[in-house]
Amino acid sequence: AQQQGRFDHQGDLEIVSVTKRFGDFVAVDDLTLTVPQGSFFALLGASGCGKTTTLRMVAGLETPTSGRIELGGKDIAGLKPYKRPVNTVFQSYALFPHMTVEDNVAFGLRRTGASDVRTKVGEMLELVQLEQYAKRRPAQLSGGQQQRVALGRALINRPQVLLLDEPLGALDLKLRRSMQLELKRIQTEVGITFVHVTHDQEEAMTMADTIAVMNAGRIEQLGAPADLYEHPQSTFVANFLGQSNLLEGVVTRAGSGEYDVTVQGAGLRATRVTASGISGRCWIGVRPEKVTLQPPGEGHDAGLNRLSGGRVEDVSFVGVSTQYLIGMPWGQELAAFEQNTGKRSSFAVGDQVDLTWMPDHTFLLDSAQDAS
Ligand code: ATP
Repeated sequence: AQQQGRFDHQGDLEIVSVTKRFGDFVAVDDLTLTVPQGSFFALLGASGCGKTTTLRMVAGLETPTSGRIELGGKDIAGLKPYKRPVNTVFQSYALFPHMTVEDNVAFGLRRTGASDVRTKVGEMLELVQLEQYAKRRPAQLSGGQQQRVALGRALINRPQVLLLDEPLGALDLKLRRSMQLELKRIQTEVGITFVHVTHDQEEAMTMADTIAVMNAGRIEQLGAPADLYEHPQSTFVANFLGQSNLLEGVVTRAGSGEYDVTVQGAGLRATRVTASGISGRCWIGVRPEKVTLQPPGEGHDAGLNRLSGGRVEDVSFVGVSTQYLIGMPWGQELAAFEQNTGKRSSFAVGDQVDLTWMPDHTFLLDSAQDAS
């Protein structure tokens, strides 16, 4: 049902050339992005990159210095926060301590004069799986349960966009993991656009359909989780989403998506490159879990990339994998992760090894665009 006085234009959320300055400081720098209606979108970045400021501008808690924020093609900049079809869930939950769970959830309906409050609250408690806790007060709930109350309260009046600002930040790791899956289930069920702010790359990758990686007020790269992970387009994204081995090289041959690169005298290939026009100096990269260690000269397969002359510097057992640190003759340390299958780890500190991996698992970055 449409709620009176609320803006109800369906559609994508669009942030168009939005800049936010605090004095001389540019917190958000000419940001443009589209969040498709019904998607689970993550704004991912380190502390201070401008993600919360972006969210607050969508919520109406902060005014852009310039640019437009549109929903379904209509500018929402002129609307007061409570007139926007947007709700926010904060890390702090901000529940009312003296109210029961059901009253906290019903609070979201207070401006709408809805008639069937009891039914709606009942449905919402079911969605966030808190039916048995309806009469409790927040202090009698766990952190995860309190987070569900905050979520129920924010969703009950069916906003078109739900903004989540580090909503799982206060939970311990195990609970975070289960709430991530829970949030994803709830988002799929309600079909509301979720914009989730986090600095945790695993969290963003677990939940979001699309991730925008932010750095210094700008978007570094936007795409599906696997796309960003497998085809990072800058060293920043390569390092921010998981661990990367990045090697400086020179392009010796460029074809369509296929490149030959020389690194420290070794010829390497990258065969699934999405960026085009890379030439001269470059970064060539591979994820540690894609690297296989071999005794020197063994397992020779002409199709594989190979770097010789490594020495195992460190071996750590981390449950699902064993993580090796390999010192290379030119002074760089590279990482290789081996899946633990019950066998003992194959190499020990001091062993000589070659690193091999498939050209398909190799990414390539233009070194002109970032010098980090
Ligand atoms: P965090 O994860 O730490 O919240 P963030 O990426 O969400 O970081 P923002 O909160 O958006 O970052 O802040 C971006 C930058 O803008 C920061 O450098 C911050 O200090 C600055 N900033 C934010 N709000 C204000 C303000 N009201 N006045 C001045 N500077 C501000």
